[in-house]
Amino acid sequence: MGGMTTDIKLIDEKGLRLDGRRPDEMRPLRIEAGVLKRADGSAYVEWGLNKVMAAVYGPRECHPRHLQNPERALVQCIYNMASFSVDDRKRPGPDRRSHEISKIIAEALTHVVFTEYFPRTSIDVYIEVLQANAGTRCAGLTAASVALADAGVPMRDLVASCAAGKVADTVVLDLGKEEDNFGQADIPVGFVPRTNEIVLLQMDGDLTNDEFTKGVNMAVGACKKVYEVQRDALKRRYSARAADEGVPGPAEEKREVA
Ligand code: ADP
Repeated sequence: MGGMTTDIKLIDEKGLRLDGRRPDEMRPLRIEAGVLKRADGSAYVEWGLNKVMAAVYGPRECHPRHLQNPERALVQCIYNMASFSVDDRKRPGPDRRSHEISKIIAEALTHVVFTEYFPRTSIDVYIEVLQANAGTRCAGLTAASVALADAGVPMRDLVASCAAGKVADTVVLDLGKEEDNFGQADIPVGFVPRTNEIVLLQMDGDLTNDEFTKGVNMAVGACKKVYEVQRDALKRRYSARAADEGVPGPAEEKREVA
């Protein structure tokens, strides 16, 4: 971000971006809940060229025990990028970046989980990036909160996430890979629609106050759309589960109407 220069025109004469998007347009987003049988909850997110899986285990007894909190659950996150997720093979294993992303995602999720209901336990969130194309922390956080809901973990609300940024002196939404590499700034945002709170906010690059405000507002607006896609994924999951278990749920009602 920021430092790299390029001859690529990030915004053309018509004001469109490399992939044809308008400045305030998000990449296509698809979410599926409950995709893994072995996890307590899971979600799969495809966001542009990003492909991200999240799995949740818990609440379960917290190990190592010295991390246990007698008053609340500990939300732990491990974000990992697969070696094959980027153009050049990524060296496997944790690094400074993955530690940072794991930490900020765990903090964002801690804000919404009713941790006080589950003292001494740990709620473990695993995020695996299978294909990366910029914005993986937002895709990861978005997937993780759907996976938590799928696991039945009580929460104030879902966290929805999206980034804004600046490329070719224009504030834009949801940066793609080239925009991330050659752009001027990136602002990932995590937002809780029900409480109107921002639970993740980072900034990389240079922005004026006005650009920053415009970017954050743009990202929050997009988070509200991401939230709808998250809710739809959970509704589909509950309908399918109700149909599987023979419980008359929305799926049954729909079938009857059809
Ligand atoms: P985010 O994925 O949240 O935007 P960054 O801004 O740190 O996080 O990374 C932007 C993009 O750069 C990633 O989505 C990925 O496509 C690429 N990237 C990150 N780390 C590596 C790496 N070690 N090797 C190759 N590409 C990487």
